[in-house]
Amino acid sequence: MGKPFDFHGGVKPQTNKAQSTREAIAVASLPSQMVVPLHQSIGGTPHPLVQAGERVLKGQRIGAADGNVSAAVHAPTSGTVIAVEPRVMAHTSGLAMLSVVIEPDGEDAWLPLSPSNYHSLQGDEIRDLLRDAGVVGLGGAVFPSHLKLKAGKDKRMTLVLNGAECEPYITCDDMLMRERAQDILRGGQIMRHMLGADTVLIGIEDNKPEAAAAMRAAVAALGEDMQVVVVPTRYPAGGAKQLIRSLTGIEVPHGKRSTDYGVQCFNVGTAYAIHETINLGRPLISRIVTVSGNVERPRNYEVLFGTPMSHLLRLAGAKPDTDRTVMGGPMMGYLMPKPDVPVVKATNCVIAGSRALFPPPPPEMPCIRCTACVDVCPADLQPHEMYWFARAKNFGKTQEYHVFDCIECGCCAYVCPSHIPLVDYYRFAKTEIWARERNKDAADQARERFEFRTLREQREKEEKAAKLAVKAAAGRQTAEKRVVPPAPPPAAPADARPAAVAAARAEGALAVTADAAPGAAPSPDPKKALIEAAIERARQQREAIAPKNTENLTAAQKAEIVEIEARRAKIRERARTHDEDARQ
Ligand code: SF4
Ligand code: SF4
Repeated sequence: MGKPFDFHGGVKPQTNKAQSTREAIAVASLPSQMVVPLHQSIGGTPHPLVQAGERVLKGQRIGAADGNVSAAVHAPTSGTVIAVEPRVMAHTSGLAMLSVVIEPDGEDAWLPLSPSNYHSLQGDEIRDLLRDAGVVGLGGAVFPSHLKLKAGKDKRMTLVLNGAECEPYITCDDMLMRERAQDILRGGQIMRHMLGADTVLIGIEDNKPEAAAAMRAAVAALGEDMQVVVVPTRYPAGGAKQLIRSLTGIEVPHGKRSTDYGVQCFNVGTAYAIHETINLGRPLISRIVTVSGNVERPRNYEVLFGTPMSHLLRLAGAKPDTDRTVMGGPMMGYLMPKPDVPVVKATNCVIAGSRALFPPPPPEMPCIRCTACVDVCPADLQPHEMYWFARAKNFGKTQEYHVFDCIECGCCAYVCPSHIPLVDYYRFAKTEIWARERNKDAADQARERFEFRTLREQREKEEKAAKLAVKAAAGRQTAEKRVVPPAPPPAAPADARPAAVAAARAEGALAVTADAAPGAAPSPDPKKALIEAAIERARQQREAIAPKNTENLTAAQKAEIVEIEARRAKIRERARTHDEDARQ
C-alpha cells in the first residue's frame, strides 16, 4: 500500500502521551470491593444471574445478555456477592444502575476455562461465544462485537484494525500493541475468518513507532498477510470513518455504514479480547486502562471491571490538588460524578484533573460565524449551524444538519475563538431528540391502548344493543300471539283499564293492528281495539293467577254455597221490590 489518504479537518492538540508509556503495563491490585454494572454495552441490559450471599468464581457469568443486541457480564474475581442493587455508574449523569457488588476473597480463583478452535466452529457458534463472553468494542463505542462479525453478502471484506489512538493522554492501545502484538493478530485471524476478509490493514499513528515495529514483527512471526500502515498524527485519525478514509481512500457518506463499502473496523483491544475469549476461553473481565493527568506515576494498568477509579488514582499517586476525575481523554472524555465509580468496558483512560492542569475556559462569547469550526470538522458538518439550531431548540433542523453524524470529537470547540462549548450543545440536541423519540413511542403506545379500549367498549355496546334487540323482537312475537283471543272479549272492570293500557304499551302491543282479534267485532278505532285487546289479556291473566277456591269442594261446602246464593237471591229480590215500591 502506498501513501495513506488524507481526511478532511482535524486538529493537532498537545498529545501528552509520553508520560504514561515510560513503564510497562502493570496489573492493578484487587480492591476491597468491586461494583460491576450489568449494563456495560450498547443494547439491552443483562439479567442478573446471582443473588446476594452467593459465592462466585472469576469469569463466572453474573449477567446474561438480554437478546442478541447485548453482551453478558462476568465476575472479575472470586468472592461473595454482597448486593445486587443500583449503584452510581461511570457516566457524567450520576445516575444509578443495577450492579453486582462483590467482595473479593483474595484467591482470584478462575472458573474452569474452555478454549475453542475457531476453525472447527460455525460462524453462529463463534458469535454466541463472543456474546456470552461479553466481548464489545473497546475503542469506546462498546458495541457488541459479535454483531459486527458477519461476512459481506456480495463483496469481499477488508478488515481494519484500529491502532491509531489519536486522543491526547490515552496510550492503552499503544502499550497493548507494544507488549501483546501477536495476541492482537491472533484475534485478527479469527475476525478475518469470520468476515471472509481478504485484506487486513492495521492503522497506527506515526507517533507510536514502537507499536508499529512490534506489530510488523508480529505479522512476520505469524506469517500473516496483514499490512501495518502508519498514518500522520492528527486528531481524530482514530475515528472509524477517518481511519477507513486514510487507509482505503473510501469516504463513507452521511447515513451510510462502512460495511456498505466492504470495510469493517475494530479496535486493536477488541482483537485482543477476541483472542482471549476464543483461543483461551476467558470472558472479557478486564482491559488496559491509562491512568494519567495530575498523578505522580502515570502508566497503564490491566484493570478488572468493577475496580473503583479512585483505587487506580491511589495506585498512580493522585496529587493532593486533584479536584476531578475524567473518564476518557480531554477531547471526548466525561467528567465522573465521583472518583469511586467503577471501571467498565468503555474505560480506556482515567485522568486526574486539577485547576492547574485544566484551567477553566474563558467565558462563552457570541458566535461570530468565522467558520473555523467548519474547517476542522472531520465529519464534514456545519458545526456553527447545528449550534444555532440546538441553542434555539430547533431539533428538527439539527437533524437536517446531520447532528447524529457528529462524532463529538470536539475539534470545533477546540478552535472556536468564542470559546463556545459546542459539543455540549450537540449532546443536548441528541439527548432531547432521543427523549422525544422515547416520549413519542410512549405516546403512540398510550394512544394505541386508548383506541383499543374505545373499540372494545364500542363492541361491547353493540353486542348489548344486539342482545336487547333480539329480546325485544322475541317480546313482540309473544305479544302478537297473545293478541289472538279465543273468544270475544267481555267487558273488563273499569278499574282494570289503566293498568291494562300500561301493560299494552310496555309490551309493544300498540304495534298490533285492530284486526288482531278475529273473533271479535272489528272496532272502527284501531287504538280502542288495542286497548280492548290489552284489557282482555289482563283479565285472562287475572283469572289465570286467581285462586281457584270453588274446586274440590266438599258436599257440605257446596251445600253452604247453595244456601248463601239463595240468601243473596232473596236479598236482591227484596231490594228490587223495594225500589219498585219507591218509584210507585
Ligand atoms: S468557530 Fe465558533 S465563532 Fe466561529 S463559526 Fe464556529 S461556532 Fe461560530
Ligand atoms: S464535534 Fe462534531 S461538529 Fe464538532 S468537529 Fe467533531 S464531528 Fe464536527
